[in-house]
Amino acid sequence: MTVGRGHVSILARLVGETSAETAQALLDVDLGAVVANWRTLQAHHPSGPVAGVIKADAYGLGARQVAAALHTAGCRHFFVAYLNEALAVRDVVPNAMLAVLGGLMPGTEGAYATHDLTPVLGSLDDIDRWRGGEAILHVDTGMSRLGLDVRELEAVAQNRSRLDRLHIRYVMSHLAASEVPDDPSNALQLQRFAAARAMLPAAPGSLANSSGIFLGPAFGSDLARAGAALYGINPTPAHPNPMRPVVRLSVRVLAVRDIPAGASVGYNAIWTAGRPSRIATAALGYADGFHRSLSGRGSAWFDGTRVPLVGRVSMDLTTFDVTGHPRVQPGCWLEVLGPHLSPDDVAQAAGTNGYEVLTSLGRRFHVVYRTA
Ligand SMILES: *Cc1c(COP(=O)(O)O)cnc(C)c1O
Repeated sequence: MTVGRGHVSILARLVGETSAETAQALLDVDLGAVVANWRTLQAHHPSGPVAGVIKADAYGLGARQVAAALHTAGCRHFFVAYLNEALAVRDVVPNAMLAVLGGLMPGTEGAYATHDLTPVLGSLDDIDRWRGGEAILHVDTGMSRLGLDVRELEAVAQNRSRLDRLHIRYVMSHLAASEVPDDPSNALQLQRFAAARAMLPAAPGSLANSSGIFLGPAFGSDLARAGAALYGINPTPAHPNPMRPVVRLSVRVLAVRDIPAGASVGYNAIWTAGRPSRIATAALGYADGFHRSLSGRGSAWFDGTRVPLVGRVSMDLTTFDVTGHPRVQPGCWLEVLGPHLSPDDVAQAAGTNGYEVLTSLGRRFHVVYRTA
């Protein structure tokens, strides 16, 4: 065998033929739980269907796999953020609405028509550039990001012929603080949404995201748009999580060593052993989306018990204090996300939210999709 051929075969294994045996980290995605979560959300939103929001590669879990599973279960409405995300999944969600939240970028109008995509029109310019046909009209009720603002709404209301070419499938808006039920912006946005709809030709409405579904029937609409809760993030942070866990991330222990009291661990020696300690070095780092802000704050689970993260998270390695756990040995697995450690738990330790934990997940895991 030539050196060149050997090199190619190693590369092929790394990029195309990873297996659980060779993997340093296993990301287990339970598509059955995603579907169960979608059904739970549907039961909480009797006023209309629940769309699957699969932007950002389905929050890091694989947009094509998630979309196909939801489609098989009967989901017929999908949202992505950008046009290219829609193009990447169009073939796995036939005969379903596939809408692009980011607005109608100039020059992309033809692609929407060709691929039967639904633009979310968020400005007068978007409306005027859309050749006509089905579209979602986005009105801003308090986010000040995308969507028609009050002036644009008034302009449209005074000249409704501007909308004549459109088939408005939904009028939509987005809540700013739906995970905080008593935040006054919820009621205010509901009121503004009703006022906006009254200014427009009659069309179905779409308001709630995952947490919005749990704000009560007033926030129900003709179409909810759920992302986070599908993937196991708690849509009701003040209450126990009604969703099933979806993600399990297990990483290998690469090395275990005993260190004396006074020895330090990792970059900048931010942790020093106060007693003789056993340190497990795991195959995971910030390059895998394991946030560096978890340094000294995160944890992993081994055999039903929590082991604390010590020292600094580095690019490819993270260290855990496994003193008193003689069964932790090189090659064994630590759970860093899963039934014991939800994305919300990790987010709390990292100082972020579960959305960022999931969408940060890296690209060098061996991914297994479970459908049962
Ligand atoms: C991301 C997004 C959603 C989904 O929100 P979740 O909180 O993840 O359910 C819904 N609507 C819009 C406009 C979004 O950008």
